[in-house]
Amino acid sequence: MCYISQLPYNADRVHAAAMYCADGRVGEHFDDFMQNGLKLPRYDRIALPGGPACLAGYNQARLEEQGVIDELNFLIDAHKLSKVVLIQHENCAFYAGRLNVRPESMKQLQIADLTRAAYSIRHHTKLEKIEGYYLRITSEGVVFDKVELE
Ligand SMILES: [Zn+2]
Repeated sequence: MCYISQLPYNADRVHAAAMYCADGRVGEHFDDFMQNGLKLPRYDRIALPGGPACLAGYNQARLEEQGVIDELNFLIDAHKLSKVVLIQHENCAFYAGRLNVRPESMKQLQIADLTRAAYSIRHHTKLEKIEGYYLRITSEGVVFDKVELE
């Protein structure tokens, strides 16, 4: 089997990456937000369960934390990455299942973890430009709210 994608190839980089959950139900929404909302086409993707949660200091994600820091440092060198966008999403199974967080406490914790993840990235890499967003599902559509990182 051979499939030929009809999408054009563009070799230019935008020097930005997004880190978000592997949850495929919102994968296209992440793409839409990054490409059309933030105008960052061809951004690099770091997708894993819980997304930025793995940089928030949890024992349950220690292995992932080291791996993601290595990946970020690789992308900073190889792709001249200068900006990373961290996105959390509503009803994340990683928070519910791996971290055993109750639904009513989840959003507040995820918001706090964006700041923790940004701190970890600043500490372990040379990246300075870090933004945080929270994805919520509403009757009008999937909304991305900017989160001020402390
Ligand atoms: Zn998730």
